[in-house]
Order: sequence, then C-alpha cells, then structure tokens
Amino acid sequence: MTGSRTSVIAGVLHRPVLDRPTVGAEARGRMVQGLAPRSSTVDWTATVPQLAEAIDTALALADAPAHALVVDHRGGDLVGTCACGRVLGRIRPGTRLDALAVPWMQHASPELAAAGHRA
Ligand SMILES: [Zn+2]
Repeated sequence: MTGSRTSVIAGVLHRPVLDRPTVGAEARGRMVQGLAPRSSTVDWTATVPQLAEAIDTALALADAPAHALVVDHRGGDLVGTCACGRVLGRIRPGTRLDALAVPWMQHASPELAAAGHRA
C-alpha cells in the first residue's frame, strides 16, 4: 500500500488539483511551485495548505475501498464477496440472491440499508 500512496502523492505533485483559490492570509505564506520538465517555466503554484489539501483529498480517494458485489460459482454453490475482500456468504443455486445482496448492502452502505428497512 505504501508504494501506491507514494505514487498518489507523486501524482498530486506533478499536477495538483487545487479546489479553491488562495485565501488572503495564505498568500503571505510560503508558496510551492512545480517547474515544467527541463525548463524554468512554472507549471503550477500553490500555498502549502492548498497543496496539503490536494494531497489529502487524493489519498482519501485512493484509500476508499471499492464496494461491489461479486458472485462466483464455487463447488456448485454461489459465493458472494465484496470487491474490497469481505466474504458475504455462500448459498445453494436457486436460493434468492437477496441472501447475498442484503448483507452486501448492509456492508457497503449501512445508511442506505437502514433507510430501506424504515421504508
Ligand atoms: Zn466492500
């Protein structure tokens, strides 16, 4: 995971996505600039807080596990897992897929699952 975090940070430093304009007080602080390859042309300029936020946002996006229900045939049964690695259960063919879909929904979005029960 360390390698991918490093490459996410490197990606931000190559081309930071700065979501907001510089705030007045920051403009008087230290600025960070990225130079274009083999030149002195300034590619981007950011304040330290702007750059820190861009790195934090990119890392949070990269760390978010992708939740997706995956159903595989294994030994005649259907095994449900989430794309993030969580095992959800094993059912016989012919069993309603809800037996896998419901636990997956509770795992992937507990808030939505709770809302569904209330409805
Ligand atoms: Zn998951």
